[in-house]
Order: sequence, then structure tokens, then C-alpha cells
Amino acid sequence: MAGLFSKLTKSAVEPEQEVPEPAPLKPISASDLQRRVELLDSLESAGLGWFWASDSKGRLIYLSEAATQKLGLEEGQSAVGMPLSELFLPDNDQAAESSERPLKFVLAARNSITPMTVRLAGTQGEVWWEIAAKPQFDENDHFTGYRGSAKDISATHESRRDAEKLSKFDSLTGLSNRYRMTKQLTSTLTAFRSAKRSVALMMLDLDRFKQVNDTMGHPAGDELLKQVAARLKRLIGDRGEIGRLGGDEFQVILPDIDDRGVLGDLGQRVIQMLSQPYSINGMRAVIGSSMGIAIAPYDGIDADELVKAADLALYSAKGEGRGQYRFYSSDLKEGVKHRHRIEEDLRDAIAKNELQMHYQPIVTAEKHTVECMEALMRWEHSDRGMISPGDFIPVAEDVGIIRELGEWALLEVCNQVKLWPKSVRAAVNVSAVQFASDDFVKVVRGALQTSGVNPAQIELEITESVFVGDLDRTFRLFRELKELGVKLALDDFGTGYSSLSYLRDAPFDKIKIDQSFVRGCSADDNNNAAIIAAIVSLAEALDMETVAEGVENKDELAMVQKRGASHLQGILFSRAVPAQEVLDRFERGAFEYEPLGPEKYRPDRRTEFRRIGLIHDDHRYKVMLRNLSKTGAKIEGLLDVPLGTQVVLDFGGGQLAVATVKRSEGFSQGVEFETPLINDGADGLCTRHRVSPYQIEAVGRPLTSLGNDAYAALAGNVKGASKAFIEVDISGTAGVAA
Ligand code: C2E
Ligand code: MG
Ligand code: MG
Repeated sequence: MAGLFSKLTKSAVEPEQEVPEPAPLKPISASDLQRRVELLDSLESAGLGWFWASDSKGRLIYLSEAATQKLGLEEGQSAVGMPLSELFLPDNDQAAESSERPLKFVLAARNSITPMTVRLAGTQGEVWWEIAAKPQFDENDHFTGYRGSAKDISATHESRRDAEKLSKFDSLTGLSNRYRMTKQLTSTLTAFRSAKRSVALMMLDLDRFKQVNDTMGHPAGDELLKQVAARLKRLIGDRGEIGRLGGDEFQVILPDIDDRGVLGDLGQRVIQMLSQPYSINGMRAVIGSSMGIAIAPYDGIDADELVKAADLALYSAKGEGRGQYRFYSSDLKEGVKHRHRIEEDLRDAIAKNELQMHYQPIVTAEKHTVECMEALMRWEHSDRGMISPGDFIPVAEDVGIIRELGEWALLEVCNQVKLWPKSVRAAVNVSAVQFASDDFVKVVRGALQTSGVNPAQIELEITESVFVGDLDRTFRLFRELKELGVKLALDDFGTGYSSLSYLRDAPFDKIKIDQSFVRGCSADDNNNAAIIAAIVSLAEALDMETVAEGVENKDELAMVQKRGASHLQGILFSRAVPAQEVLDRFERGAFEYEPLGPEKYRPDRRTEFRRIGLIHDDHRYKVMLRNLSKTGAKIEGLLDVPLGTQVVLDFGGGQLAVATVKRSEGFSQGVEFETPLINDGADGLCTRHRVSPYQIEAVGRPLTSLGNDAYAALAGNVKGASKAFIEVDISGTAGVAA
């Protein structure tokens, strides 16, 4: 073996060349101070790492020369002597997020400094160091100061910080992103829970954003989102945190607001502000916005539950015609099911012959003679009864069958009108989605030709939302439609975004003044009458007719007539009636309508018919709510309640209203609320405040969001209190007029 080994060894060194002598090894021994200092010096000057030291008072006593140069000190100035806490400043961005103890505390506690990012004081531009150090102690265990190292990480720090920001902030708008909002909401809710504080959450979604994106291009869409973010920031200010969750979805977290009056006002202002026109690269864009509002702990305890509640409220706000806010309430879940059913069934509605056109007269202001009938779609669902177009038209637009519905409606109306006298036209509503489809003019032409109707007897009602996006196309379409011989009307004027200059150039024959201006136009607390007068004089100048929509009572009639509207429409004259009824009337030669209806407008008074709770002396009665206004209600079901009796009405979902009996007659009482109700955003009323789940928790129940029987949960312990009044069953009197 030895032979083989020596042979191998030999052959390995075989080449005949000179083997160089290895340089003698000169290790730096611990005692060779001179060479150790040289080593450290070269390390310092190469910028690979620097050293620093402080004394027991935390003042700098040494800093590598190369590092000192980084400080950008003035001539004659020295870093030596500076307190560490003034030299090394905390990274504020990181401090807010991390659980690390700030340097100040570490120094005070004389703990080791594990690698930590600090900003250097007094430097030009931002200089970032990573420092680490160990505390030093003398033989008596007395602290003598720190010895530490440092290195410059400015270059990597900036990019890391940008990346971190990106993961928390939306790069387009600079608002918080979904990740950060969720974290923020979760931590706020957790922190607030023990202090029994509330948090409101707004979910926002832009209406018609897709239309802007599609017609004006994605860069325009991006610009629009930025402007939306800026408007939100201006309005919300430091009241809350705003985020963009993605797409056109925004969220606002508002700590310590649970007054639904305040939230509703804020919601309304946000929606109004976002609905003002935007200018994007010289083009105009108009969008709307819908909002859902949920409040912790009432509508949800944890982030997940609260977000779901706000989402549901948003969904319902969108379903109800958009441009609205909506508070969450537990019965919205029913609404979702309802909408899904509508979506499914609507596809078959035409085939199943469930759609009909009804007609509502538009009469002259002078003699109330009918000149036009507005065709309004009705859907009679086999087992749900009549479904209102306000409920199904937006769904049809969303699921994309509005074009089919519209095409069907046009032909149906054209065929009807052929049977009418020449003096009466029919007006057909056109959805903006329908108007945007490429074949719209062709569809109209087709219906006119197929039916053979006189085009002058057909009017198209178009809403202001067509003035969005490609205006050249809009005006071209107007011209083509006019060439077909039909008339054009601008529907719901004043609710949207008409610029007066568009109105001047568009060939409308008629402007329909939206019912919101007619409603209550005789009351003193609004300037509706003045607005109507202004629209009328504008229309006259442009040689257009005006229709006041939604005239319900004689008060309003007198006012719109006085303000000069040339035509009138509303249930004061007639509701929309089936086609056959129209024909019968025309055959009788009855072209004039008589105004039939109430004299006066009753602000906010709604007819109701639902069961609610009434609490008196700790006993809870069931009564029937017959009408409701912001300030009071009419109830039925208790016999002979004395005037002045204090009661609490329980509207469900923790909504309690303290009220006093002001009128009492047999089983019917009129009560007045101590605090007025507010709008719930969905055409209904609600209480400002609700029973708080924290109150329910305080009587020994678990903390949960409010159910419908929140009061029962609160008052579980007063069951069996004595009854002061006799209850009468009036459920059989549903047909009696209130
Ligand atoms: P619109 O075009 O503004 O129609 C007027 C609405 O006001 C109708 O509601 C009508 O019944 C209602 N109305 C009339 N007089 C009064 C009144 O005195 N008081 C009150 N409170 N309301 C009154 P309707 O029939 O529920 O239709 C709602 C909306 O649905 C229409 O608003 C229209 O935008 C849309 N729509 C209806 N039919 C069609 C259709 O065939 N195609 C399209 N695309 N949309 C339709
Ligand atoms: Mg209309
Ligand atoms: Mg209208």
C-alpha cells in the first residue's frame, strides 16, 4: 500500500516545474494591536462597516472617519458629544407598523441594539443606517456605554420602503389598499370593543364607471379614479380612513360615529360630490355612486360581519336605482333573494307573455287634453304579482337583456299606437344602455317599418346619462333618429348631469321636469318652484315643450301651472292604465282628464300597514302602524289610550322611538315622536339611534349584532309586566282606509 501511495504522490507532483514556496503565514494575533487597528481601519474606509461608541450618558465618543463624512457636518463641527438619540432618528413609517421598541427605549433600558434602521439627523437628503450595538459594562458591572457598528443602507431602504408602501397602498390613488383597510378595520374594532365605542363603515361603488372605461379608454378611467379619490379625501378629511379595494370600489372607516342622521348626511354629500362632472383630458365624464353603510357593533361585531353587512346594503342601494345610500338592516337578506329571483325570471318574462305596456296620459296645462301617452312597462309575475320597472329595469340593464326588453316594448307600442287617433302620440322610454348599443337606430327603424305606424306619433324618452362619453356619437344618433321622423324628449331633467350647452345643441322637442322638483313645490322650505320656472323659460327659449312629471295633488298642479309648464303628467290625472282602457277611452272620445286627488301635499307622510311593538310600563303590546311621518305616526290596536301617555314604539332591529299620544279615538291613536325620524336612504324612515348591542351585553347577553327582536333581548327580564290597555285585534280591517 505504501508503494502505491508514494507512487501516486509522486505522480501528482510529477511536473518538472518549480513549486513556488508558499508565503509565510502571518496571523494577526490578539496582542498585535497595531495590525488589528490597520485591519479595522481598512474595513472602515472601504465603507463595508463603521464603528461607533458612546459613553455611559449616551453621548457619541467615537465614529469611524468615513461615516463622519456622511453626516455632512459644517467646518469645525464634530459629531462627538452628540446624544445618540439625537443622531439616530426613528423610522416613522416603520414605527407605526412594527411592534419593535423604539431606539429611545432600548437605550434607556441599556439593552442590546439588534439591527435597527435609523434615519441620520442633519444629513442632506435622506440617509438611512442600519445600526447594531452591545452595551458595555466595567468590572463592577457599571454601564460604560455602547460599542456598535453601522452601515449605510439608504439605497436599498428606499426601494424596500416603496415596495412596502405598494403592498399597503393603492399605487394609482395613494389610498390604503384592501389589505391595509382590512387590517385597520380589524384592529380598530378590537381596540374599540372594550371601550364600547362604535365604528361606521361605508362601502362605495361607482355607477357607470365601466361606461367611462369602455368609451373613453382605460387611461381616462384611471384618471377618473384618481379624481374620485381626491374628492373623497377632501370630503372625509381626517374623520376617517379611505381605501380603494380594487376596481371602482372604495371603502371608508369612520370611528365613533353611530348617529344615522349624521352618517346619512355625510353619505348624501359624498354621493352628490362624486356625481358632479369630471374633466378628463378635456373631455367630460359623469358617473354616479352608490353606498352601503353598516355600523359596529349594531350591524356586525367583527370585521368580516361588518363588511358583509355594508356590502349587502350597497348591493341593495344599487338595486334600488343607484345614486343612493342605504343603511344595513337585517331584512336586506330577503331583498337579495328577491333580486336573484328577478334575475332568473326576467329572462323568461317575454317568452311567457308576462310583460305588458301600460299608458299614462300627458295632458296640456290649459285644458288637460291628452296629447301623448307615456308607455310604462309592467311585469306581472306568475307568483309574485306586479313587479315595478324601478325594480326590474336596472336588473335588466345589469344582466344585459334590456335590449331585448326595449325592442319588444318599441314594437308593442308602435302596434298599439296604430289604433289610436292621429292627435295622440306615445312616448317610449329608452335606457341609456339601449341607446349605447350599436344597432339602436336600426331597431327603431325596424319597429316603425314592421308596424307601419306614423313615426310622428312616436316619441323617445331619453335620460341625461347619454351625455356621457362619446358625445359625437350621441349627437349623430339624435340626428339619425330625427331623420326617421320620431320626436325626442329629455326625461327626468334636473336629476343628472345635463350641461346647458348640450341642451342647446340637442334636438329635443320636449323636456320632462323630474318629479323631485314637482314634489312639494308649493312648500316654502325649498326652491323647487323657482327651479321649475327657470327650466320652463330655458325650454321656451329653445322652443321645447315642458312636462311637469309626477303631479299628485292640486297644490302642485296650481304651482306648476303658474310657473308655466306646458304639459302635465301625474296620478292627479291618471295612473298608467292597460292598453285596452286607453282604447275604450279614445273610442268614447274622452280626451280630457279631470284632476282628481288630494288638495295638499303632506310632507313625508306614508301610508303603512305593518305590525310593530309598543312598550308602555314595561309591557310590550303589538299594534298596527297605519301611517308614518318623520315627526309622528298613527297606530291602531289599543283601546282608549289617554292623551299625553308616554309610549315607546319598537320598529324592530333595535329601533325605539319615544312618543307621546296626541290624538286618541277608540282603537286609533296619533303619536308624536320626541326625536324625529330620519331618511333611511331607501325612501323609508328610520331612527337615528338604536339599542346598542353593548347595552344588551350589559344585561348578561352575549355581544352580537342586532336581530329583529333586539328590544326583547334587552328587556328579557321585564316579561310579565302588567297591562294597562286592552288590545283589540284589528288585523281584519286592512281594507279600511286610513
Ligand atoms: P319615468 O320614465 O320617469 O316614468 C315616470 C314614472 O313615474 C313611472 O313609474 C310612473 O308610473 C311614475 N308616476 C307617474 N305619475 C306619478 C305621480 O303622480 N306620482 C308618483 N309618485 N309617480 C308617478 P314607473 O312606471 O314605476 O316607471 C319607473 C321608471 O322605469 C320610469 O321612469 C322609466 O325610467 C323606467 N321604465 C318604465 N318603463 C320602461 C320601459 O319600457 N323601458 C325602459 N327602458 N324604462 C322603463
Ligand atoms: Mg319616462
Ligand atoms: Mg321621468
